[in-house]
Order: sequence, then C-alpha cells, then structure tokens
Amino acid sequence: MKAELYIWEFGGPTIYSNTTANIAESVIIIIIIIIMATIEELEVQVKAQGEIVKAAKAADKASDETKAAVAKLLEIKKAITALDPTHPQAIKKKEKKKKKKKAKDGEKPALTKKQLRMIEREKKLKAAADEKARKASEATTYGDIGVVMSKSVSGRSWTNIEDLNQSVSGQKVLVRARVHQVRAQSKNVFFTLRSKIFSVQAVLSKSESATKDMLQFAGAIPRESVVDVEGVVTTVQDTIKSATQGDVEIQINSVFVVSKSAPELPFAVSEASKPGSMLFNEGELLASKDNEKKDENAVVKVGLSTRLNYRWIDIRTPAHQSILRVQSHVCNLFREFLYKRNFVEVHTPKINAGASEGGANCFSLDYFGTDACLAQSPQLFKQMTAACSGLGRVFEVGPVFRAENSHTHRHLCEFTGLDMEMEIKEHYFEALEVFSDLFIFIFEQLDVRCKHELNLIAQMYPVEKFKFLKPSLRLTFAEGCALLKEHGISDYERDTLGVTPQSPVEDLSTPNEKLLGRIVKEKYGTDFFMMDEYPLAARPFYTMPHPENPELSNSYDFFMRGEEIMSGAQRVHDPELLVQRCKTKGSHGEPMSDEAIESIKGYIDSFRHGALPHAGGGVGLERVVMLFLGLKNIRLASAFPRDPKRISP
Ligand code: ATP
Repeated sequence: MKAELYIWEFGGPTIYSNTTANIAESVIIIIIIIIMATIEELEVQVKAQGEIVKAAKAADKASDETKAAVAKLLEIKKAITALDPTHPQAIKKKEKKKKKKKAKDGEKPALTKKQLRMIEREKKLKAAADEKARKASEATTYGDIGVVMSKSVSGRSWTNIEDLNQSVSGQKVLVRARVHQVRAQSKNVFFTLRSKIFSVQAVLSKSESATKDMLQFAGAIPRESVVDVEGVVTTVQDTIKSATQGDVEIQINSVFVVSKSAPELPFAVSEASKPGSMLFNEGELLASKDNEKKDENAVVKVGLSTRLNYRWIDIRTPAHQSILRVQSHVCNLFREFLYKRNFVEVHTPKINAGASEGGANCFSLDYFGTDACLAQSPQLFKQMTAACSGLGRVFEVGPVFRAENSHTHRHLCEFTGLDMEMEIKEHYFEALEVFSDLFIFIFEQLDVRCKHELNLIAQMYPVEKFKFLKPSLRLTFAEGCALLKEHGISDYERDTLGVTPQSPVEDLSTPNEKLLGRIVKEKYGTDFFMMDEYPLAARPFYTMPHPENPELSNSYDFFMRGEEIMSGAQRVHDPELLVQRCKTKGSHGEPMSDEAIESIKGYIDSFRHGALPHAGGGVGLERVVMLFLGLKNIRLASAFPRDPKRISP
C-alpha cells in the first residue's frame, strides 16, 4: 500500500512516498496518528469552550468569568498550535499579526529626526490654530466692544425693551441697556436690564457655547454698565415682578460691554428707586452708618442733596426719569395747544440792559463794559411782539432767571418760563378762557400720554390724583378772601402753618394761598382754579387797572394744589397810562425813578405807534410738573436745578 505523508513545511506541503515501511516510519506514522487524534480532540474542546465563551459574553457575566473562559479557550488553541503550527487556528493568528505589521509598516515608514521635528511643529501650529478658533468663536459671544467711534455700520437692528412682550416670544432680539442688577450662580447669570423706564430679565445659562469663561465675564460686569445683549425672547410662567416686562425674559446668546461703569456707585439705582428711599431733609442725609441696611426689607435712604450731586445717576431711577418725561410732555402739550390756537412761538433775548422789569432780583453781568442782567421774564418782549409788532398771539418757552435768595420747596434761581400773550378784543376773559382750556388740555393729555410714567411716579410718591373741573372754577380775589375769613384760623394753622388774617388789598402769603387751596378743594372738589381782580397795589406797573374799582386790577393767578403756577393780567397798552403807572408803582411796589423809566423807554415807546389791547400770563414749568404730580420739592421737576446753594452739576 502506498502511504502519503503530509509533512508541512513553511511554503506548503511536500509529499513523500514509500513502498516499504520500516519500523521508524511506522513509529512516525503512529505518532502522527496520535497527534491527529489529539488535535481532533482539542478541536472538539475548542468548539465546546467557544460555546462557553459565547454564552458567558451573551449572558453579560462578570468580566472575570468571561476572561477565565477566554483564557481556557486560548490554552486549548495554544495546545493545537504547539502540535500543528499549520493548523488554521495558528495560521489565522499569524496572518493577522503579519497583516497588522504590514499595515503598520505601510502607514508609518521609519521617520528621520527632521521629519519628527516637523511633525511636532505641525502639531503645535494646529493646537494654536484651534485655540485661536475657539477664542474667535467666544469673541462672537462675549467681550468688550471698545469705544464706539462711528467706524462702521453693522446693519443690525436693536429692539426697545418696552417692545418685549409675549407677542415677540421665540424671536431673536438685540437690546442695548444698562445692567440694573446682576446675579451670578454656578450655571446661570441673571441680569435685570434697564433702558429708559423699562426693564426685563435676561438669563445666561451654561452650555456648549456659553463657556465657564463667558459666565465669569458676564457675572463680573459692573452694575450700570451699558451692554448689548442678544438672545431669544421666551415667555415665563410666573410674572417677573422686578421687571416692567414681567411676562418674558431673554435667553442670552451673547453679551458685550459697550461702556463699563465704575464698580463703586455713589448710590445704587435699584435702592434709590424704591418707594420710601427719598430723604428730603438735608439734615438727615445718608452716607452715615445709621443708613446701613439692617434687615432685608429696610429701605436705604438716599438724600435729595446726594441725588442732586449725582443727578445723572438719580435720573436713571424710573420715577425721577418719569418726572422729566412728564416735564417734556407738559412743554410739548403747551406748544401743541397754542399752535392750534394760532399762537406764534417767539424767542426773546435773555441778556438785557438794566433790569427787565426794573426789579432787584436780577443777576447782573458785565456786557462788554456795560451793566446787563439776565432776563427775569420775557414780559416786555412778549407784549411788544404780540401787541405792537402785530403778531397778535405769541408764546415762549425759555429760561427765566431770578436772583431770589429763596430756600423754599418751590423756588429756583433759574426756571423754565411758559409765557403767552394774546390780543383781546374787549375783555381779558377772552384770554382767561384760552388759558383755562390750555391747562385742561395739558391735564387731560398727560393722563393719556404718560400712563406708564404717572404709574411709576405714583409708586415712588403716592399722592391723591390731581382733580380739575370743566369748565375751570374762577373766583375773584374778594371771594377768595371771603372763603378764608369764613374758614377762620385754627391755632395749628396760625402757629405751625403761618396762616395770617388776609387783607383784601394785599397779595396772598404762601400759607394763606395753601389754606385757600384746601378750602377750595373741600368746597368745590378741584385742585385747579383761577382767581382774578387782585388788588392793584399787589401787581406790577404794566397791569391794567380795574375799570370801576381803582383798588383792583384786571389781573389773575392760577393755582394747582393750592400753589400759584401762573400770574397774568390784561396789560396796559396806552403809553401815557403806562408812564403814569410806572411813576405810581414800579414792578415791586416802589415808584420807579426817572432813570429806571428811561431804561425801559423803548418798551414804552413801542406803544406809541398803535397797540393791540392784550392780556397774557407767565407759568413756571417746574411748578406745574411738581404740583400736578404732588411732589414735595420743585428740584425734582428740574433736570439740573439751580438754587441759592446749588450751581452745579
Ligand atoms: P411766587 O410768588 O411764587 O414767588 P411770583 O409772583 O414771583 O411767584 P411771577 O413772577 O408772577 O411769580 O412768575 C410767574 C410764575 O412763574 C409763577 O406763578 C411760578 O409758576 C413761576 N415762578 C416764579 N418764580 C419762580 C421761582 N423762583 N422758581 C420757580 N418758578 C417760579
């Protein structure tokens, strides 16, 4: 029989053949048979152990158990490999190794030192580029934009905070605002953003794009800094009480500082905005330890003086800013009404030779070597333009300077005069009617146009709403005196308020004026009334005397909450009567000297060429604002008040 032996060598099988089997050959054959039987047995074991490994893996057994099973499997395979290196198990392993090595060698050929250095350099460059890209991406989400110098126009559009409400929920917006409050938590930064008299909550939450660095940056922005915030408007479930736009908030995507505030503020706007935080009496000024917040609910007091020293910050408080907004509306409404009634706006000089009304309360100055003074009123000029120049109806909104050393709640050294003068056909009542309509228009329109402002002011300074009648109440001076007499004077009114018995031929003192206001309010239910026919002695020289009673005049004052806000009269348009009145009584009681009369010669002469009968009045803008709002001090109604003790800021 011919036996074929397969002796495996590297490279493939070689076949030997023998026809005569000697003993040695027989031994070899036996060994081979034993080996083959063993391998067969081992193959069975591999199969069985393979199943065990599979089952262990499938059952997700503890890794130790699986590892042990795999180790045993490898043992068996190793035994097979030892017996027959050409066995598929062994070949597989080798080829795998070979393939791996080949692939490895193909990918990475041996590198020179130079090449290695280059690779290292490239790695570094890539890392730097990655870092730059990261920073660039951060630069689009936070940072300082630097000084805005009108370098370029981005084309982006900004949304006003007052327009943020549920109707824009889900929209992306960009707002410019001040940081009213900022509160940083580990994963969120909460802002209250304020612009003008509106505020909204904005939240920056940690995310892939909002890095830890960004949160740190945002949380450290000082209050009152101006920022540009871009984000998405979202509706909130519970109304945010600390913001005017309480139904929504902004989920911040980016925050940039436009102008950074110094971290130390003379007072916090949030504190100075709280009801009860105003301290009117200078003696009680804050900045003392007494004023330190002792408990959560205590209100920090900020004195009027401190507020005025830092008025630009004080005006950021919603109520105080609202007062100036109301002031602006009063001015606008004054103009609007008078334009509709065919008045012409004039601008008269504020630097004049001598004293405009021959009075003493004049700020004098040197005018190229000549004495001059700042206008105490546009009185003479508005008369000349209306009655003598033929404009017929004029008004002016302009500064009025009074060198009165009055330290009261209602006097300023510079205020804004709302002056008007109009021709009349027969009676000064024609003017009274126009002026009364003017005030009713202003009061009514303020309620319509300044709702939000009035609300904010009322929160800070709660006061009874201003009441007025239509048509307005008109009393004569004599009737006013009678009301006072009828009321009498209590001890408190005399001793504490300073009320005195009213003379029918003298002007009202401030305490008497206020008492009359209270009496009128009680009796007629109005905070606004007119009173005419004042004693002639109490009025300036240009006031037309009463046609029947030489003690009286065709003059009138208007009152709000018991304080004078307008003084007016029919004016003298006859030059001879004018001179006679000057000689009898100047603007402040005493007869005018020839010199003083000479100084207003131009004014008197202007009536010599035909003049229209006319009447007019002068109103103090700040007084109207103060009294409409029921404020305690006129300084709050002036952006930068001037009084005997204050000339800056
Ligand atoms: P008062 O008696 O209150 O001092 P006045 O009689 O001097 O006022 P007028 O000269 O008639 O007032 O001025 C007309 C209006 O101008 C006043 O009704 C008031 O509204 C306003 N006004 C006058 N003086 C001041 C002042 N010092 N500060 C603010 N407003 C003033």
